[in-house]
Amino acid sequence: MRGSCYSEHNWRPARKFFMAENSQHQKHITQVILKVASRCNLNCSYCYVYNMADSTWRGRPALMPDDVFEAAITRTLQQCSATGQDRILIAFHGGEPCLIGSERFDFWCGRARALLGDVVKVNLAMQTNGTLLDSRWIDLLRKHRVSVGISMDGPKEIHDAVRRDHRQQGSYDQVERGLRLLQESEIPYGVGCVIPLGADPLTVHRHFLRLGCKQVTYLMPHFTHDTIGPIHQRFGPTPCADFLIPIFDHWWFEGTMDFQINNLKDVARVIMGGQSHSEAIGNGPPRYVFIEADGEMEGLDNLRACGDGLARIKLNVRTSNFFDLLRTETMHSQAIFEGMPLCPTCCNCREGKTCAGGHLSHRYSVASGFNNPSVWCADLLKLFTHVRERMHVSLEETEQFRNIRLARDATRHDIQPVYVF
Ligand code: SF4
Repeated sequence: MRGSCYSEHNWRPARKFFMAENSQHQKHITQVILKVASRCNLNCSYCYVYNMADSTWRGRPALMPDDVFEAAITRTLQQCSATGQDRILIAFHGGEPCLIGSERFDFWCGRARALLGDVVKVNLAMQTNGTLLDSRWIDLLRKHRVSVGISMDGPKEIHDAVRRDHRQQGSYDQVERGLRLLQESEIPYGVGCVIPLGADPLTVHRHFLRLGCKQVTYLMPHFTHDTIGPIHQRFGPTPCADFLIPIFDHWWFEGTMDFQINNLKDVARVIMGGQSHSEAIGNGPPRYVFIEADGEMEGLDNLRACGDGLARIKLNVRTSNFFDLLRTETMHSQAIFEGMPLCPTCCNCREGKTCAGGHLSHRYSVASGFNNPSVWCADLLKLFTHVRERMHVSLEETEQFRNIRLARDATRHDIQPVYVF
């Protein structure tokens, strides 16, 4: 169903055939993302949770109570036992997850492994702004083998312009300290950097190299067709491509594979016929569920950038299980388990099976929902064209490589999950 085209016919509720589809080991959740804190000690200007179209966080408890955590893990166990899947990712997310306190984190990590460990391989992860990491947190991350995603937007002057606390103070110094602690203790981590539009790309990139980072993802900022206009007026038609292309070239000509740029690696991967590992390109079914602090399940957390309440499914983990997600007659179930249909422009695009519409939230407009190409379409085309030229891979070769991979995948059940981090 991936990459199918958008029409009245196929923009439909997800089909109700969990057990039949599940026998193919495809229609189940692979990532449970726990929004353990619905508040944050920072107030970043572009945050889609607090500073965009959505305000649902205001009605939620600041921290996830124990019974919601317990229900979430019980639902996870229920699904894993039924599907026989071999792995699950449990991610601590927010807001800022460190706000739950290290003692509760210690207990919850142990509890998750104790309840799930006999049934499925459990990977634990945490997405943090990094400001609250200290030696106690580092000990716990190591003890429970938790990998970390940390947010940093480049050098101090760039980072502090957008990632500030509630008193308007920049957070760079605290984040750098947290990052150093992760490095010293050799805890696996990756940096997420929201592309600072208009900034010098190599200044940003060399900053991460100087810090000794090994893994960075440059994220295209969240805008919709209703909000992108002023950005194009200010930064031109392709500001993301203009940022990413010099970094790709630096990596290509001067870098090594010791340093991973996840989103650029993903572009190269799909050009070589592979499957995208992120939700930013490829239109793969993400197969994750977000669980809010009050237990409400959400499929597509970042649709908060598009409209108030748009991320809501109105199922609660206290009363519903993950199979109920598939049975809901919402676009979420289709997006989570199949990938949303593409608009006609994407279907007819030369990169329609590689880029495949870009990130779902970037396709949105009030007038036509998700039936649009990405607001970063021109950037994506420019980037793909550039990477193709560097790699000397034609569209026809990509098609051949993809067909070989699809034929191989048809005999496999261990389909690579799409990662949020
Ligand atoms: S490049 Fe643009 S038209 Fe092509 S698939 Fe991506 S978003 Fe759609």
